[in-house]
Amino acid sequence: MAESRFELPPQYDPHAVERPLYQRWLERGVFTARVDSPKSPYVIVIPPPNVTAVLHMGQGLNNVTQDVLIRFERMRGREALWLPGTDHAGIATQNVVERLIAKEGKTRFDLGREAFVARVWAFVKETGATILEQLKLIGASCDWTRTRFTFDPAYSRAVREVFVRLWDEGLIYRGHRVIHWCPRCLTALSDEEAESKDIDGKLYYIRYPVEGGPKPSLTVATTRPETLLGDTAVAVNPKDARHRGFVGKVARLPIIDLPVPIIADEAVEPGFGTGFVKVTPAHDATDFEIGLRHKLEMPLVMTEDARMEHPTRVPKALAGLDRFDARERIVDLLKERGLLEKIEPHRHAVRHCYRCDSVVEPRLSDQWFVKMTPLAAPALEAYRTGAIRLVPERWGATYQHWMENIRDWNISRQLWWGHRIPIFTCAKCGEQWADREDPKQCRKCRGPVEQDPDVLDTWFSSWLWPFATLGWPDETPDLKRFYPGHTLVTAPEILFFWVARMIMAGYHFLGARPFATVYLHGTVRDTQHRKMSKSLGNGIDPLDVVRLYGADALRWTVIAGVSLGSDLVLDPNDLETTFAPGRNFANKLWNIGRFILAQLPERVQPLEALDENRLQLADRWILSRAQGAIREVTTSLETFRLDEAAKRCFDFVWKELADWYVEAVKPRLGSDGAGSAGSPSAAAQRAPAASGDPTASRAVTHAVLAYCFDAALRLLHPVVPFITEELWQRLPGRDPKELLAVARWPEVRSDLVDETAEREFLRAQAWIAASRNIRAEYKVPPNVRTIFYISALAEEARKTFEAERQMITILSGSANAILGTPPNVAGGHAVLADGSSAFVQLEGFIDVTRECRRLSGELTRLEQQLAGLAAKLTNQQFVARAPAEVVAKEREKERAWHDQRQVLADKLKSLGCS
Ligand SMILES: [Zn+2]
Ligand SMILES: [Zn+2]
Repeated sequence: MAESRFELPPQYDPHAVERPLYQRWLERGVFTARVDSPKSPYVIVIPPPNVTAVLHMGQGLNNVTQDVLIRFERMRGREALWLPGTDHAGIATQNVVERLIAKEGKTRFDLGREAFVARVWAFVKETGATILEQLKLIGASCDWTRTRFTFDPAYSRAVREVFVRLWDEGLIYRGHRVIHWCPRCLTALSDEEAESKDIDGKLYYIRYPVEGGPKPSLTVATTRPETLLGDTAVAVNPKDARHRGFVGKVARLPIIDLPVPIIADEAVEPGFGTGFVKVTPAHDATDFEIGLRHKLEMPLVMTEDARMEHPTRVPKALAGLDRFDARERIVDLLKERGLLEKIEPHRHAVRHCYRCDSVVEPRLSDQWFVKMTPLAAPALEAYRTGAIRLVPERWGATYQHWMENIRDWNISRQLWWGHRIPIFTCAKCGEQWADREDPKQCRKCRGPVEQDPDVLDTWFSSWLWPFATLGWPDETPDLKRFYPGHTLVTAPEILFFWVARMIMAGYHFLGARPFATVYLHGTVRDTQHRKMSKSLGNGIDPLDVVRLYGADALRWTVIAGVSLGSDLVLDPNDLETTFAPGRNFANKLWNIGRFILAQLPERVQPLEALDENRLQLADRWILSRAQGAIREVTTSLETFRLDEAAKRCFDFVWKELADWYVEAVKPRLGSDGAGSAGSPSAAAQRAPAASGDPTASRAVTHAVLAYCFDAALRLLHPVVPFITEELWQRLPGRDPKELLAVARWPEVRSDLVDETAEREFLRAQAWIAASRNIRAEYKVPPNVRTIFYISALAEEARKTFEAERQMITILSGSANAILGTPPNVAGGHAVLADGSSAFVQLEGFIDVTRECRRLSGELTRLEQQLAGLAAKLTNQQFVARAPAEVVAKEREKERAWHDQRQVLADKLKSLGCS
């Protein structure tokens, strides 16, 4: 193994590493949860992607988040189960296949139900595993032995069981009512599937003639004039004094001249429009309720695909016209007859099909509904008592409001792809029941039976996902072991579609919550803050990112780039810059790894074996910082602040371990500095070797380096699993059978927490930084070692300085670091926060005369600029005419230049320039 450590290629190549490593994890079964394990379980069920889906960035964020949590808990010693699978996605999948056969010039009706469903199955079998294979490429550690599909026979049995139970409990009923109808998909939609969008529409004011009323006509306002053909009344609010005289009279529908009653109903908003509303009970949910109360006729005047049709109400000239064409024709006809009073622009909410974006047409129809109030009660209670927690918490109010105002769920869909509704009706005696098996005959009279032609809403299967995937309704070992689960990670868009319903199903069918915490992450957006979508063409293919930069770069960017619950903004036009943080960090980690691994011998002593007295300040400091990193990363992951966990790892590895510790100990390693882990390394490499016993000192450094790097790799593993596993395998003494994926999560060792060391090291860092800053200001070349003085130190600080003089000398780029007042020579100075004073002697090291010339030149230029600016600001015209913020900016500039002038003057003085 030792040899291979030195064979690390100089560049990290994710493509050489990722696939073989993933294969190894699979072969070793590290993702497979054991049902007989003594460990306490930790379960996440994946939000099942549509079976036809291909991975997009939103799912990338969703799944990487889940993977970070599951890998974290697996390393913490939990029996982690991340259960994957896909959703048959009724309407979505049916739409995809309908589009396919449309290319052959066919509709599903040409094929017939059986052939069409067979076609969908063939399509699903051919493409269905795509997205799951893609999840493997981003490193998802799902338990693939437990992959489920919502249309699996076992799963379908659970769906049917649930349906029959609800039926037997009397919670399923046939509702004759106005539902949301998609005229493109030819199916009913639930409230959630009919998405509200604000559109710029029009409000049409239409005059209806009135017989024997106080006035010859009344005016109604409507956004859908074509529906007037289906009007069966005009209504006013009973409290509306203006229109009281009309109630009881008869209005005549324009164009078709049908008489309709004028009625009074509380549902009419007195303030809206003219106070009169047309009542179309078959094409509007509110009007339907009015129709019920007043026993009105409810004629449908459109076909299912939204063309105008009715034997008596739709005139020949309009029959068969699409609703939007009919709207224009009716408006023309109204104009011709002088019945159109006016048209106003009107912005209002219109529901759209969530699958095909067609405008939803409210439509009277017979559908199956589930009574939701009894199911909602325990789910609401669970939120109130804290049994179920939403993260971020702000979603709680939304959840609570929705559950308190829950409406019955329309579960029937007029589709062919889906779980067929298991309701059977006897053709002879009318007996109707729900059955677990397909009956051959009527259970009462043995007459012939017919099954309901509709299928169930897709969500009627996915709401069972947390337990149907584990074998329910059977009491399987998996179900006993892995239900209830723990965390659900999802997008807020499906809080009601899915999350709330899973909670209801969990309590109703198993009497237990499906999970304890729902983590709702943000949305992936482009730099204009638009949601990434196929239709906008502003998406990023996560697999392109994996191909270009590797899975870890993708994972790092999405995790480090988004804070709790907020949106992830990525630039689809500049993948290079967008994913640079991830790629750069992977490269940095690789370089640090190469350096450290090259230093470490075959055997490294454990920390416990070291003589504590041999630990120097830098050792004690980095060991203490490591404890801080372990504590903070653990807490951040526990509280879903994944970005903070990533950033803390970054700081520990890059800023603390590489930039400071490695640089501080390079002289002790006596190395030639093979590879470079930080800056400025050039100075360190030529530094004198450490005093004392170099072998013992080296052994300490090796132990500390190995411990810290090992801890860093463990902490980083959930976010960047591939590169960390690859490096970790090469640490000394590693058994080739060991895998980081199942290694122990590091624990804080209180014996290594050392606040004194942290304080002292911070002080040393401030001195070193002061020297480096001065050297940079006076442009001292890196290979020139200056003399560094520090004075006016308190007692404790003096001790630190004396003890760490060697480290300070090296890291400050000095030939010597001296405690005391500097001689009267040219140099740069700085006053530190603790009141001490730093001085870098430059005389004798740089060409002071030249530096004086350079600084004087700068000063002259600055003074000229200042004079110009002063003239501008004393110019009354400019000050009076320019906008206030421009003047303020100029004054701001003047102040800054004044400060700069002071700095330059001080520098010139301290260099002794004349
Ligand atoms: Zn649709
Ligand atoms: Zn019968």
